[in-house]
Amino acid sequence: MTARPLAGRRAVITGGARGIGAAITRALAADGADVLACGRNEDALRELADSLEGAGVEVHTATCDVADPDSITMMATLAGEHLGHVDILVNNAGCAHSAPLHHQTLEDWNRLFAVNATGTFLCTKAFAPAMAQQGWGRVINIASVAARTGLRYVSAYSAAKHAVMGFTRSIAAEMADRGVTANAICPGYVDTDMTEQTLARIVEKTGMSRDEALASILQTTPQRRLITPEEVAHIAAMLCGENARGINGQAIGMDGGEFLG
Ligand code: NDP
Repeated sequence: MTARPLAGRRAVITGGARGIGAAITRALAADGADVLACGRNEDALRELADSLEGAGVEVHTATCDVADPDSITMMATLAGEHLGHVDILVNNAGCAHSAPLHHQTLEDWNRLFAVNATGTFLCTKAFAPAMAQQGWGRVINIASVAARTGLRYVSAYSAAKHAVMGFTRSIAAEMADRGVTANAICPGYVDTDMTEQTLARIVEKTGMSRDEALASILQTTPQRRLITPEEVAHIAAMLCGENARGINGQAIGMDGGEFLG
């Protein structure tokens, strides 16, 4: 095993400048992959690129809104120009919304599907066929524990993440004999802005303090803690390795044992 097991590999990470995506971008770069991180926020992308200066790999960025098909096409063109070919795609960009069913709107439903599910479909379509042609590839979708089970107040999010899971399994079957694997990582609450927004919403709705809101969500987690972005990134990097080539079509739980399916 080389010190940099992903040397020579080229990776695209959606939502790669913040939260879980930034941790994955860093982990893949540390393992030697050239990376292209994308997202909507140019400042966050620039900050991420600056933080990776001296990492000894190529670090590129692209602005991309995965809810916009044209934006994905432009990002894929840029990825081709910068990286040549792409070996690894991490579909990490996502958004969440929580509300009881009677407050879920069609706009919420469509937005969550556009970003989480359709974005994953379009990005995979942009890169995975070429991976199959070259005979090697990794597609890693950041789903959620909500892709594996039903949870209160997240019906649209859970439906969109279940769609990601079904898509992952189907792509895995379709590309299994072409050297490409597709897997999903399914975390519970992770210590990122997304969870901070959940806490802010609980505070707003209930009048709890932020610490009380945190305690209330931790009550639902067996380990009574938030998962760190680095734990998710560790599994993403592992899935890119040669020794993970037999792992395909899996929903890899990272929820401290919340869902024991
Ligand atoms: P954050 O809210 O911290 O970050 C969301 C990321 O997605 C950002 O990089 C953001 O980029 C990107 N993003 C959102 N919408 C779009 C869009 N339309 N186009 C492009 N990029 C977009 O969340 P996390 O880091 O926590 O979430 C990352 C993934 O992990 C998501 O898919 C989420 O569903 C999943 N997840 C998160 C959990 C958690 O508890 N936090 C638990 C389980 C799964 P930018 O705003 O810069 O464009």
